[in-house]
Amino acid sequence: MGQNKTVWENPADIIRHQQPDHPVMAFAPTVLQENARRFVDGFPGLVTYAVKSNPEEVVIQNLLTAGVRGFDVASPFEIDLIGRLSPAAARHYHNPVRAGWEIDHAVASGIRSWSVDSRSELDKLFARVPTETDRGPVEISPRFKLPVLGAAYDFGSKFGATPELAAELLAEVARRGYTPSLTFHPGTQCTDPIAWESYIGVAAEIAQMAGIDIARLNVGGGFPSHRVIGVEPDLQAIFDEIADTAAEAFGAKVPDLVCEPGRGLSADAYALITRVKSVRDEGDLFLNDGVYGGLTELPIIGNIDRLQVLTAQGKPREGDPQSRVIFGPTCDSVDRLPGEMSLPADIEEGDYVIFHGTGAYSTVTNTRFNGFGAMTHATVMSLT
Ligand SMILES: *Cc1c(COP(=O)(O)O)cnc(C)c1O
Repeated sequence: MGQNKTVWENPADIIRHQQPDHPVMAFAPTVLQENARRFVDGFPGLVTYAVKSNPEEVVIQNLLTAGVRGFDVASPFEIDLIGRLSPAAARHYHNPVRAGWEIDHAVASGIRSWSVDSRSELDKLFARVPTETDRGPVEISPRFKLPVLGAAYDFGSKFGATPELAAELLAEVARRGYTPSLTFHPGTQCTDPIAWESYIGVAAEIAQMAGIDIARLNVGGGFPSHRVIGVEPDLQAIFDEIADTAAEAFGAKVPDLVCEPGRGLSADAYALITRVKSVRDEGDLFLNDGVYGGLTELPIIGNIDRLQVLTAQGKPREGDPQSRVIFGPTCDSVDRLPGEMSLPADIEEGDYVIFHGTGAYSTVTNTRFNGFGAMTHATVMSLT
């Protein structure tokens, strides 16, 4: 997807040499690989990447290089993408709702791990998915939910069975000859490990209710990225808490653990370079990108304050901080960043605002609404 062959020093280098008029997504492969190694080395189990957060092929390739061996895929497109880039990688089809043809496509592609959160969807799997493939047994993981805790938004309103239903589904999965496992997804951008603790405790209760020893427990995604200067996530503390909680909750029968980070892997490997289109009379700022472009998520989960403001020559603006309203380029009044943001008072039209930590749910949700969104990609050695 339009990856430039040039490798730049950092975002300021791109600005100095190109003065881009369209938004640029700057990707740092070294940062992504470092991040991936932190997960692979630190998480007490298998790390699978949630492809939906950023399906760029260079992202997948760099994750493979760094040792990621599994992927959470949610559609035939993602199944095929990973099948093509890494035929040996594990693919977990963890979208609990699927059309019949999607199930058939996944079976034909050799998928051996499925999640489910309702009887009707489980019956569809029973009818179409064999209990075994030539690569080994087939796993089905009921997905359960709890009231939202510590996440930036509530995933439970769309997916997840109650613990009681999950126990019934789990017993049925085992009775039918599939490998019984459990999964949950605590939400996204969970900065507090408590989001996982209560889920892991309930997973042990569900297994007990069903009278089943589960093979694996997938603790979902939700691992935080660094969005706000003052809140630097401590991933290792979360990993350790997950391991300790699982050991406590399951005792001797502790299942193999799996996680499926999206944002936690991809977000901090990118920075979005935007340009100031206008500083209006009243001081409001218009950028060439906004909520229909690379900043879709800000109104949903809050602003990113890891910003840099540079002149067109790539020099940092150093004026006193001043609060401003920031609008995106479209004529839709929703195209505005939440609240106000603090930026150097001497910011001018033609300057650049760099948003750090924008690699997740951005390149892939960018739209061409109103004729904007001509985003390009660039590779950098470093993000700063
Ligand atoms: C989106 C999703 C993820 C990844 O979520 P992040 O918050 O980006 O880590 C993981 N698992 C499932 C099932 C998802 O739908």
